Amino acid sequence: MIIVFKPNITKKDEAAVLQEIKRLGYRPHIMRGVARTVVGAIGDELTHKSLESLIALFPQVVESVMPVQKRFKLVSREAHPANSTINARGIVIGGRKIQVMAGPCSVESERQLLTTAEAVKAAGATILRGGAFKPRTSPYEFQGLGERGLKLLAKARKATGLAVITELLSEDHAELVAEYTDIVQIGARNAQNFQLLIAAAKTGKPVLLKRGLSMRIEEWLLAGEYVLSNGNSSLMFCERGIRTFETYTRNTLDLSAVPIIKQESHCPIVIDPSQGCGRAELVAAMCKGAVAMGADALLIEVHPSPAEALSDGGQQLCLDGFVALMAELKPFIEAVGRE
Ligand code: PEP
Ligand code: MN
Repeated sequence: MIIVFKPNITKKDEAAVLQEIKRLGYRPHIMRGVARTVVGAIGDELTHKSLESLIALFPQVVESVMPVQKRFKLVSREAHPANSTINARGIVIGGRKIQVMAGPCSVESERQLLTTAEAVKAAGATILRGGAFKPRTSPYEFQGLGERGLKLLAKARKATGLAVITELLSEDHAELVAEYTDIVQIGARNAQNFQLLIAAAKTGKPVLLKRGLSMRIEEWLLAGEYVLSNGNSSLMFCERGIRTFETYTRNTLDLSAVPIIKQESHCPIVIDPSQGCGRAELVAAMCKGAVAMGADALLIEVHPSPAEALSDGGQQLCLDGFVALMAELKPFIEAVGRE
C-alpha cells in the first residue's frame, strides 16, 4: 500500500503515522519527493489490517491510501510518480544532465587507468568506470586486480575529481568495495543474486543494477525491489543487452527497456552499449538511440589501447574515439532538451 502525505506536515505527525503503520503489521519505507512524501507500506495485505483507517485517524496528515497492483511495489511508478534522482558524490543521475560513465572494462595498471580517466574527464564524462573484480566466463582469463584495482580507482578519483563506479562480485567484498566506490555496480551475471543485492543495498551507496543475460523486465524490476526494500533508495537500472538467437552482436541491446523502465519505475535508467553490442563501431549509434529514448546515463568502455586490453578489447573505444563520440552526441542531447 502507498500512503500519500499532505504537503508540509511536521516530523511529529509523520512519526505518529509511521508508528501506526508498524502497529498494523507493515514495514514503512519513506520516499521523499520534491513536492510530497509518500510511504510504501510493505506487508501482507491479506493477513494484516487495512491501512484505510489512517485517513480517518490522521485527517490532517494523510491525503490518500492506495493499493499498489504491481509485484514490484517500491520500484513502481505507482508508489512514486515523480522521477527519482540519485546523488553520487555530487553527480546527479536522473536529472536534466545525461551523465556519462566511462573508463576501461578492467582496471589494468595505474598508467592505463589514469590516462583513461584524464581523457574521459576532459571529454565530458563525470563518472569513471573500471572493474577491479571481474566476472570472467573462463577461470583462466584475467580476473581483475582486486583491492589494488580499487586503490587505483581511488587514486584516479583524487587526480580527476570524477566519481567512481565499480562492480561488486561477492558479498564478502561489500565493505571493501563500498570503501572505494561511489556507485556499486551489480553485474548481469549476478542480477538475481539476491543476497548480493541485499549486501549492496546495505552499503548505503547508490546501486546500478544491470539486466541479467536472460532476464525478463519484470524479474529485473523485482530484483531492484531487493535494493529498495533493504533501506537503499538510490537504485538505477542498466540495460546491457540480453541473450537472443543473434550472434552478429555479442548481445541484443534492448533499447525498449528505456521507455518501459520510465513507464514502470521512478528509478533512473542507464544504457551500456559496450556490453550491449560487443563491438566498438556500434557504440555511437546505440548511444544516440539511448539519448533519444530518454536514458539518464550512458556506461561506456574506453581504453587507451583496446587491442591490448585484458578484457573486452573488441568493444572498447580508444581515447580519440570517445572524444569524437562525445562531440557527436551533443546535438542529440540538446535535441531532447537535456544537458
Ligand atoms: C562490465 O561492465 O564490464 C561487465 C562485466 O558488465 P556485465 O555485467 O553487463 O556483463
Ligand atoms: Mn566489460
